[in-house]
Amino acid sequence: MGYVIPPASQASVAVTGTLDRFPVRRIFCVGRNYAEHIREMGNDERDSPFYFTKPADAVVESGAEIAYPRATADLHHEVELVLAVGTGGADIAVGDAMSHVWGAGVGIDLTRRDLQAIAKKAGRPWDMAKGFDQSAPMGALVPLAQAGWLTSGKIWLSVNGESRQTGDLSEMIWPAADCVAHLSTLVDLAPGDLIMTGTPAGVSAVGQGDALEAGIEGLPNVTVRIASA
Ligand code: MN
Repeated sequence: MGYVIPPASQASVAVTGTLDRFPVRRIFCVGRNYAEHIREMGNDERDSPFYFTKPADAVVESGAEIAYPRATADLHHEVELVLAVGTGGADIAVGDAMSHVWGAGVGIDLTRRDLQAIAKKAGRPWDMAKGFDQSAPMGALVPLAQAGWLTSGKIWLSVNGESRQTGDLSEMIWPAADCVAHLSTLVDLAPGDLIMTGTPAGVSAVGQGDALEAGIEGLPNVTVRIASA
């Protein structure tokens, strides 16, 4: 058997300390998970989390330069803890959730905020605001045994060396294990799935020529540059 067109190459993310890579199956993103960011967006922090997705091949290697995306004049950064699922499962218990996580990294959920605002107002899906090409820069993943359970630690993002977002993983309304467990009540999680777990306060716009750097205590930083005009 062959394919009638060439199949896409496997999307993947770097892993710290090895040339081997983590193959990406799907990218799930938690919509709201830090109280201060929920307030800055004008929402109620008591709401349950919800999810949206990005295509697997939206991942961008750390250090890359990307074009300013089309169809927006308000591109925002959102730094997030990324969980890499190594063992699938459904209806996973919170206490068992981290045993399904292979590793963790730092990601940036790039967002076309103007398209998101239009979608929210019209009650439309967020796909084109969130799931566009090159919308998920990812730092190298670290095996969980080395990274720890990531229940606390500084999370931050800077633009051109100037601080924009700072928070702490301990501020997550739904910590890593809860995200895995809750998401697994909605879909069967599978090896290769990435979960972006939401962003702290301080989201803001970036433009052509800007250099973004983001990090989480204990994990490799992610950097990405928006190409100049
Ligand atoms: Mn986000």
